[in-house]
Amino acid sequence: MASATDQRRFTGKIPGDLRFSFSTRDAGKRLLDWYRKNKRDLPWRARFSKSGDPYHIWVSEIMLQQTVIKAVIPVYERFLQHFPTIEALARSTTDDVREQVRGLGYYRRFHFLHQAAKLVTTNAAGMPQTVAGWRDLPGVGDYTAAAVCSIAFNIPAAVVDGNVERVFCRLMDLRVPPNLPELKRRFKTLAAEFLDSSSPGDFNQALMELGQTLCTPSAPKCTRCPLANGCLSKKNRSQDLAPAAKFKRDTVQVTLHLIVHKQGSKIGLMERSADSKFLKGTWGFVTSTEETPRFNGSYTHCGTVTHAITHHRITAHIWSAGSALPQQPMKWVLHQAVEKNLISNLDRKAWSKFLYWQTKND
Ligand code: SF4
Repeated sequence: MASATDQRRFTGKIPGDLRFSFSTRDAGKRLLDWYRKNKRDLPWRARFSKSGDPYHIWVSEIMLQQTVIKAVIPVYERFLQHFPTIEALARSTTDDVREQVRGLGYYRRFHFLHQAAKLVTTNAAGMPQTVAGWRDLPGVGDYTAAAVCSIAFNIPAAVVDGNVERVFCRLMDLRVPPNLPELKRRFKTLAAEFLDSSSPGDFNQALMELGQTLCTPSAPKCTRCPLANGCLSKKNRSQDLAPAAKFKRDTVQVTLHLIVHKQGSKIGLMERSADSKFLKGTWGFVTSTEETPRFNGSYTHCGTVTHAITHHRITAHIWSAGSALPQQPMKWVLHQAVEKNLISNLDRKAWSKFLYWQTKND
């Protein structure tokens, strides 16, 4: 695989004539057969096949954005037990929604899901029935609109995610970064041509599942692959070269200060504003992004924690703020209820660090 420096130096060209070396009709049938025999038993599949309710697919697609299946499964189950219908979600409070998705990260997506649920339930026409209609909802992009429409409404809309990009690069032995913007555009056209429009939901899931389970980034299991016959990377034994490593944004180091304010048996939490740089709209500890914050009163350093958010590598200093009163409006919660009120993993790491420091110093 290419190093980060190699990626930046990449000057290769995408071939002008991008096409598969096989009949997409036959390959599509093999892919669907393979999927129907081997598909994983995932909770959103089970729920949707029983209920036929697009809400069950919609929630799963939002949770799966930038999040691995293993992390999503328990939160998905908890969320649907708490909000079994879109109406229940629409009626709920922001705090309740946040609590139900604790630990998944990227909380803006759930704020948008909540807003979209309110829109859909107050709209006489109900849920949109077209890709464009879904695309108009808050937090729904091209990928989510195509995934929900194809899986829940049987609309022939092709999806291209990171798995599909990797499979396509391998099938055509393209040794280029799979997320080049030009390649993405052209893959959308190819995916639409490849799509079996009689079973678009199964077809899209089959292609993504092939990438997740067989055509994995390293050591693909080609002997079990339904597309092995027409795969140029398999033929050329170049699976390690196609695709090249993705283009990545440079990592940015960030220092934060999280301040644990204490008054008797209560701890102060604040709601981060919608325009804060990190963890917008979440309840957590008072946060300063200043390199050297100007502390008012007596503060004690409890330790540091590290955390990653997208390409930011955060080092957070945790402070105990004794009896100092913060400037911001706070919610004071009992010591034993703090954990339950923390949504983000960064705040939860900070709280563990604080508790550890407290046991050592009490
Ligand atoms: S044959 Fe191997 S490399 Fe080609 S698509 Fe299948 S799993 Fe991927």
